[in-house]
Amino acid sequence: MSRFFSKRNRNLVPYIPGEQPKHVEYIKLNTNESPYPPSPLVEKVVKEECSSLSLYSDPECLELRTELAKFYKVSTEHVIVGNGSDEILNLIFLAYGGEESFLFPDVTYGFYPVYCNLYHIPYKEIPLDYKLSININDYMNCNNHIVIANPNAPTGTCLTLAEIEAIIKSNKDTIVVIDEAYIDFGGDSAIPLIHRYDNVIIVQTFSKSRSMAGARLGYAIASESIIKDLNTIRYSINPYNVNRLTLKAGIAAIREHEYYDANCKEIIATRQWTFTMLINLGFDVIESKSNFLFARSNEISGCTLYEELKEKGILIRHFNKPRIIDYIRITIGTKEQMEALIQGLTELLVERREEENFEY
Ligand SMILES: *Cc1c(COP(=O)(O)O)cnc(C)c1O
Repeated sequence: MSRFFSKRNRNLVPYIPGEQPKHVEYIKLNTNESPYPPSPLVEKVVKEECSSLSLYSDPECLELRTELAKFYKVSTEHVIVGNGSDEILNLIFLAYGGEESFLFPDVTYGFYPVYCNLYHIPYKEIPLDYKLSININDYMNCNNHIVIANPNAPTGTCLTLAEIEAIIKSNKDTIVVIDEAYIDFGGDSAIPLIHRYDNVIIVQTFSKSRSMAGARLGYAIASESIIKDLNTIRYSINPYNVNRLTLKAGIAAIREHEYYDANCKEIIATRQWTFTMLINLGFDVIESKSNFLFARSNEISGCTLYEELKEKGILIRHFNKPRIIDYIRITIGTKEQMEALIQGLTELLVERREEENFEY
């Protein structure tokens, strides 16, 4: 820290992204990216757009918003796009943080408390139940803004649309943000609810199900007046927040949604297979509606699993957080990648069991 850093920033603890190794070829199951490449049209339109890079991008992102609006059966006034859904969340915290606190689960996406701390927004973390699920009764009539990742991360559990609606309905005078980064892997989106409730914001991303994490593209769907608020903030920070290449890529990805639907189906099938294999190996595994599994072994600690899999060339995520320290989060890759993971875990467990027999 330099001696010039503002006093108000000195205690900030920034978000820690998962590793992005540069020199070693890992089987990368640590940041919930898609194992599949973008669709052919995406590659084509991005190449074509390169010649226009001397010009600014459309600050209204109109072509992409029109495509998203058509796809989700809303109007363009209900849609805002951003530089990843992280930026959309940033706009939301800036727009609505202040007098009211934000509530979110104690185990959820790590960026929510980071934004609150950055903007000095009060927040309260509501403990997940003993099964690491969200109990919706904890969110009834709260009188505070609420952020819920559905499916939740890093647990993968998913609330039903009726449960989400119950939360929104009982908090009509505050904002309810539903972060649907993983909704395409088996959950029901709450997007249709924006027609009945003016306090709900649905946040989604192209990073997970649409193989575009590196392009940085996210969006929110909400009432017209909420989108206006978010645009006021956006135009106060960076009107050109989404670049030309990414805008074109996003439009192409929506047009080729069959390709991505097929990938999601494949990932869901591979998730089921991996779930069963992990259970057979003796892991506790949480039922997941996302592109990752959250699991723990009662023989090897989460930290050791992380380190020893890394030695075998497989990267997974481990969180040094009290309630979930025993767990590992495993992104669902291709079937071949998951076979390698199961092979690696089997070897680790066999080694461990042999060592224990030796000791007795
Ligand atoms: C990955 C993720 C995001 C951020 O996605 P980007 O669009 O890449 O910024 C937001 N929320 C949750 C819950 C995520 O897992």
